[in-house]
Amino acid sequence: MIYLDNAGTTRVYDEAIEAMKEVYSNTFFNPSSTYKDALAVKKLISESRAVIAQKLGCAPNEIYFTSCATESNNWALTSGFKNKRGNLVVSSGEHACVYECAKNLKNKGFDVRFAPLNSDGTVSLPALLSLVDENTCLVSVIHTSNETGVINDIESISRAVKAKNKNVIMHSDGVQAYLKTNCSVKKLGVDLYSISGHKIGAPKGIGALYVNSKIKLQPLLFGGGQESGMRSGTENVGGIVALAKATQIYAQSSSEEMLKRRDLLVNLLKEIDDVTILSESATRSHSIVTVVALNTKAEILQTMCADDGVIIGRGSACASHHSGNRVLSEMGLTQRQIDGAIRISLSPQTSDEDIRQAVRIIDKNITKLRGHNIG
Ligand code: PLP
Repeated sequence: MIYLDNAGTTRVYDEAIEAMKEVYSNTFFNPSSTYKDALAVKKLISESRAVIAQKLGCAPNEIYFTSCATESNNWALTSGFKNKRGNLVVSSGEHACVYECAKNLKNKGFDVRFAPLNSDGTVSLPALLSLVDENTCLVSVIHTSNETGVINDIESISRAVKAKNKNVIMHSDGVQAYLKTNCSVKKLGVDLYSISGHKIGAPKGIGALYVNSKIKLQPLLFGGGQESGMRSGTENVGGIVALAKATQIYAQSSSEEMLKRRDLLVNLLKEIDDVTILSESATRSHSIVTVVALNTKAEILQTMCADDGVIIGRGSACASHHSGNRVLSEMGLTQRQIDGAIRISLSPQTSDEDIRQAVRIIDKNITKLRGHNIG
């Protein structure tokens, strides 16, 4: 099988599974206990926290483990926002777990403002800035889009937002950017940054939120006081250790190699008739390519390719329950274009041969589909 839906989720690294197994079988003690074996587990958590902090360029005490990025994002928005009265500005290109959370706040009567996108999928900075005022509490802009792979220039956005209102808490969803582009939080100028394990070879069910030590976030869960009292609940030690292990392995992959592989994919896809690469003019991730194959139906194409052993995505997996695609329509794509949009996402393990073989199968199935006039 050729697996090209790595933006949806990734295969867990064997080394991460080994690290988890060790925790479940041998170092399974409750990290809050005070006997020697338990203290060793607590140390494992500290060491893992330091690994993540080093990659994000922050202090270990600025990293809080969560159960997933959906949790990190909901925590950032609801707590960062409810600190004060005021408004929240969110880009329209957000993953559902930011967008729906913001919509929920809006439905509850909060002042939530959505910034439009440019046609390349980046957020419109002038439009976003026009929504920021002296009452803005929090601004949230996705770093790398899960839909198109387009990268927002978070450093410039943060700078411009803070020049307008220095008290704004800047949040970015870094799930598709973590380890794949520069994600030094200090350089990006963000106060909150969310990551998820299962996009980088760690298991599902582990995430983290970076919280700038200068800002005061409300605790998410109250209880035993774990995670410095900010997110109570006995720690998912296996997940935490696996997240650190996967981080170390993923970080060894070469960005240049992945970029070359993405470009090979793009060039081969361009040889297929009536196929357009989305966001091609913008700075994009080396691991996500979204294309529109006109006169096809992505859902059927995806199934046909899967039957031939090639797994590709179509929009975000979380959005696949809903019809249409909010982000692509915000970018100005027509329904006909959205119907034919597929997302191909690579991992460091994807080979050139995987790409050549996958494009042959995608091409064959597009031709077959068009022959049946399904589009
Ligand atoms: N944010 C982005 C950009 C994503 O791509 C995803 C997953 O698809 C999430 C958030 C949600 O992450 P999790 O599955 O860890 O809740």
